[in-house]
Amino acid sequence: MDLFEYQGKQYFARFDIPVSPGDIADTVDEAVAIAERIGYPVVVKAQVKVGGRGKAGGIQLADNADQVRQHATNILGMDIKGHIVHRVWIERSSDIAKEYYCSFTLDRPNKVHLGMLSAQGGVEIEVVAEEDPSAIAMLSIDPVVGLDLATATKWVADAQLDEEARAQAADILVKLYRCYTDGDCDLAEINPLILTPQGKVHALDAKVTLDENASYRHPEWDAFRATETEDPREKMAKEKGLNYIGLDGTVGIIANGAGLAMSTLDVVNQVGGSAANFLDIGGGANADVMAAALEVINADPKVKAIFVNIFGGITRVDEVAKGVLGALEKVTITSPIVLRLDGTNAVEGRAILQPHLSATLITEPTMLDAARRAVSFANA
Ligand code: GDP
Ligand code: MG
Repeated sequence: MDLFEYQGKQYFARFDIPVSPGDIADTVDEAVAIAERIGYPVVVKAQVKVGGRGKAGGIQLADNADQVRQHATNILGMDIKGHIVHRVWIERSSDIAKEYYCSFTLDRPNKVHLGMLSAQGGVEIEVVAEEDPSAIAMLSIDPVVGLDLATATKWVADAQLDEEARAQAADILVKLYRCYTDGDCDLAEINPLILTPQGKVHALDAKVTLDENASYRHPEWDAFRATETEDPREKMAKEKGLNYIGLDGTVGIIANGAGLAMSTLDVVNQVGGSAANFLDIGGGANADVMAAALEVINADPKVKAIFVNIFGGITRVDEVAKGVLGALEKVTITSPIVLRLDGTNAVEGRAILQPHLSATLITEPTMLDAARRAVSFANA
């Protein structure tokens, strides 16, 4: 789950990472009231889960109530790269002497954490990486060892941060690393981390992606989730305990096993179709799970055909077939269903389905045939 900047800053604050004081507003009047409370000058910041808000005009300085009113009026409702601004964050404006960049993320191939630090912040790090890669000091961090202050101190020197910023920056990096690890983030990024003319270092922006796999140990994340504009299909699937990800296509997919589900998306794509979702019903797909899966897919108005791709291993295909029939008794499905059933007890499974087959309930012998059939329905 990606956080809004203001939520990222709230999360940072839990780990003692310094941020500017501010508050969140849904309306122009609220924005003005907050500005009056925290004192001028303030900065009015569009809250959308996309970068480059500054360039898009979504970040404006204001010296008085009239300016806050004007900027908030312009920014609320603004479209930034397809994201509509519903809220603005108002914070005390900072004077900036220098802008730095720092982040932690996972380096999957090397099974370590990757820290990135640059004295050239404020611009997109991809641009720095392209134009002057030597300006980014990369640090691989063994998750067992972690990041201590001594290492961070050397790191800020390697990255050539200004002398007066180094001690504070090293301290912030250690805290940000703790936020990233203890806070279960996939990404924790500060861009820019600023040095003020008064010699203070603090976070001016926050980009945080939380690792949903860890949500069971973070009840406090519910507050962040409340502002999520969740895909209604994903919401429904989650309520039913399904492993579902919504996509944009027209072929609804049900498969057992994440690997098979991924391959199913590929095959559908390969024969000229597009998947409406990823859905792994896992092992032991009984009637209830199948019914839940069909119900979620059926609720997606874009779906024109459903492709059920089951390879029985521990899961027995005859059980799956019973599951499909049981499900069809519970749910009225509006799209044709194409099944590919193979593996353990496939013959028995197909025999169970045989008397029920129709123009809209079809079996195909192979994954490719089934994909072609489903796609021809979807593209008809
Ligand atoms: P982004 O464009 O979405 O990454 O938004 P940021 O929060 O990073 O802000 C973009 C830029 O706006 C920063 O790099 C700063 O140059 C500027 N900015 C943001 N907050 C302030 C502030 O408090 N004071 C000043 N002077 N500039 C700011
Ligand atoms: Mg930024």
